[in-house]
Amino acid sequence: MPSGPTPQGAVGRARAAAPRTLSPLPFDIEAVFPELTGTAREVTLLYPRAGQPGSGDSSIGGPLLWPADEPWPVCTEPDHYKPLSAPVEPEPVAMVAVAQLYARDVPGLVFPAGTDLLQILWCPLVHEDDQCGAGPRLHWRSTTLTSAAAVAGEPPRPHTAEEDYLPRPCTVSPTPATEYPNWDLPEGPAELLGERFEALEDERGFDYFALATTQQSKVGGYPGWTQRPDWPVCGGCDTHMEHLLSITATEPVMGRWLPQDDRDPRRDWSTVPSWQAEADPAVLHSFGHGMDLGDCGGMYFFVCRTCPGIPYTHRYDC
Ligand SMILES: [Zn+2]
Ligand SMILES: [Zn+2]
Repeated sequence: MPSGPTPQGAVGRARAAAPRTLSPLPFDIEAVFPELTGTAREVTLLYPRAGQPGSGDSSIGGPLLWPADEPWPVCTEPDHYKPLSAPVEPEPVAMVAVAQLYARDVPGLVFPAGTDLLQILWCPLVHEDDQCGAGPRLHWRSTTLTSAAAVAGEPPRPHTAEEDYLPRPCTVSPTPATEYPNWDLPEGPAELLGERFEALEDERGFDYFALATTQQSKVGGYPGWTQRPDWPVCGGCDTHMEHLLSITATEPVMGRWLPQDDRDPRRDWSTVPSWQAEADPAVLHSFGHGMDLGDCGGMYFFVCRTCPGIPYTHRYDC
């Protein structure tokens, strides 16, 4: 498979992002913890790696396929204008591309009718509102319509940016998996389960949280919360919104969720339990988009698919 960058706008020649190979769960979660029956969720893990994605590729922090007749989004936060002396108008800060996902690469992501491309941008400066982050924009598009009018070349660069919110360009390898709740464990049994999780680890070496839950950039599944869940409620229909995707500061560098071909090649892993896998030090530098997101936090995106216009919002555990 070719590994070079895809030329700007070359939708037709873009390569499909191949899923990574993961180790299977070493035990049957629902047989050991029947309380968790029905809590499994399908998730698509993204595995961002520093690279040179093109606008025809799914990416984090890569170039977007952007229509020529649509202005690039800017942040309207009053403090985020660059003050210039009169008579020049103050300059707003340009938003930055955070994620772009093509439907062909993420079969687990349900796209609204007539769309097959999802794009997320955000402001690269600190927002002091209650979500302290980013004022993101989310666009569902049709590849066919967009590529017909796509802009080739560089989008405007922000006049100022916080490193914390500026992703380095990454390719992604959307990988389907099944996960169980971490912070979203059912309320009642959570305490009892905690004791049994510990017992399982003592007896068989299985750490429920490390083996069955994920905290990495992903589509669907459970939000990668690093703090207590804060599920948004849709203002239109008053129901809990759906977790769309999480962009997290952390990516697995060891354990079951480390892709098999990222393991240290100097060791024989055939006799080592999957959850003790360690990454190849030679490739570690390429892991992740490089954003701290408020000290190893994450930005979580939610949608309501039943209200008109698919309203969205975000949470940020900064
Ligand atoms: Zn802003
Ligand atoms: Zn709604």
